[in-house]
Amino acid sequence: MSSKVHLGHTARKRFGQNFLTDMNIIDSIVGAISPDNDHTMVEIGPGLGALTEPVAEDVEKLTVVELDKDLVERLKTHPFLKDKLEIHQGDAMQFDFSTLKEDGKKLKVFGNLPYNISTPLMFHLFEFAEMIETMHFMLQKEVVLRLSASPGTKAYGRLTVMAQYYCQVVPVLEVPPECFAPPPKVDSAVVRLLPYEVKPYPCDDINVLSKLVTQAFGMRRKTLRNNLKSVLSDDEFAQLDIDATLRPEQISVEQFVKMANHICRK
Ligand code: SAM
Repeated sequence: MSSKVHLGHTARKRFGQNFLTDMNIIDSIVGAISPDNDHTMVEIGPGLGALTEPVAEDVEKLTVVELDKDLVERLKTHPFLKDKLEIHQGDAMQFDFSTLKEDGKKLKVFGNLPYNISTPLMFHLFEFAEMIETMHFMLQKEVVLRLSASPGTKAYGRLTVMAQYYCQVVPVLEVPPECFAPPPKVDSAVVRLLPYEVKPYPCDDINVLSKLVTQAFGMRRKTLRNNLKSVLSDDEFAQLDIDATLRPEQISVEQFVKMANHICRK
């Protein structure tokens, strides 16, 4: 499936290809990314180079991960980019970002992400959070609202808790569909994710936290007691000073970590 030819390339829907065309927005995003040579700069899905070119102007080297072989070919022969890029052709979801780590440098990762895989891709990147300084992503606006949501709101869920466990989340700017070719059907927004150097609420076992959060939000309308009865008793909720009659969306990251650590230690 494909649509609209752009700069001699037919945008492939299955790769979530919506290319940025608005120069003001591109400038703002590059400003937010703040490219430098003290970090390993990594772009996911460079596409036709809308962000790649201005970022590459500011740095000596830029690493990119792109799935589309045709786009990789274009990048390899691009007159300005070909000497600056380290190109990895493949799926960013399978990519081992730790292989990019250079001595004394953290990664600055960015990308206008394919929306169909943005959530699992962020979960994949959280596994490398310790070696990442900043992440800047263009996402569906709704996903940015979920990432940055506060407890007690409709947008607060599994993605919120896990993202805010690893990172400080800062919405950067909103981007309307007409800034892309072809325009996506949804509004977009750029988010900045800053992985914590020292996590405010460290958990003993990330797999336990992840499983607990998934289970707690299994049925959002139900109480914690109901969703978590297979792992926590009323006595344990009392011991943890957590009201089991609350719904998962009313529980803070700190409280989720408290429950997970209790489960790990018992
Ligand atoms: N960065 C370009 C821009 O802003 O105009 C392109 C953005 S487009 C929304 C998403 C890009 O990610 C496309 O180039 C697409 O081919 C690439 N892509 C899609 N799935 C991918 C994956 N699993 N791994 C790496 N790149 C992927």
